[in-house]
Amino acid sequence: MPELPEVETVRRSLFPLIKNRTIENVIVYFPRMIKEPDVETFKRRVRGQTFKAIERLGKHLLFKVGDLTMIVHLRMEGKFMIKAIDAPKDKHEHLRFNLSDGQALCYYDVRKFGTLHLKEANTLYTTKPLRHVAHEPISEAFDFNAFAEKLKSDRPVKAAILDQKVISGIGNIYADEILFCASIHPDTPARELSRARIKKLAECAKTILNKAVESGGTTIRTYKNALGVDGMFQLHLNVHMREGEACKKCGRTLKKKKTAGRGTYFCPTCQKKGRKT
Ligand SMILES: [Zn+2]
Repeated sequence: MPELPEVETVRRSLFPLIKNRTIENVIVYFPRMIKEPDVETFKRRVRGQTFKAIERLGKHLLFKVGDLTMIVHLRMEGKFMIKAIDAPKDKHEHLRFNLSDGQALCYYDVRKFGTLHLKEANTLYTTKPLRHVAHEPISEAFDFNAFAEKLKSDRPVKAAILDQKVISGIGNIYADEILFCASIHPDTPARELSRARIKKLAECAKTILNKAVESGGTTIRTYKNALGVDGMFQLHLNVHMREGEACKKCGRTLKKKKTAGRGTYFCPTCQKKGRKT
């Protein structure tokens, strides 16, 4: 699943290819992807609009088209491609924007989980899906006290940092890496973390996500970024997908378990259970 660094890579690689292009026509092959408004209204409203910017919040891409914003969440395997306007439809293509330069911006999604919402500026951050999305750790707007406050729950810290309302942009891969960096056992009840440990957690989140953004994200399993760009952060993974291998800090064997319903990789020595300081 693309997390913040992969979505940021999509944003950076895609924008130069659609910047200032006008949408001449929209073809929706999979209407269920358009969550808001209804498909006909969506098509009517974006036709004739120009791509002004692509912003991002957590794992959401925010396409600025005229005064409107298209919020796209790629979920498991969504991706964008640029094709010639007359190229045949791909089997997994759900959406196509024909652009003024003879190219088409196409959205593909084998799993069909991706979503699109079209919003006016005044409701962009006050309605779903962005309404409760927390700031991301690499944002200047990130508020440490608000983050610490939201961690006050009995659920495992791994579940808490996967919750986009607590901190945004982190998915399964980076959650494992961040908890290893902060020497926190993934099952630790979030409310048991000391303030110093939460500080370390926020610092690790920032460092790791920044480094992953620089590396173009992580390429594992089936996910590839838009335009076939592969990230290289998998070379820096310390625990994720490394079950049975040696811990890079202590040399002991890394383990895998289920936490918050997700496969979780950790070092039982470096991330001791019950550690509170
Ligand atoms: Zn270790």
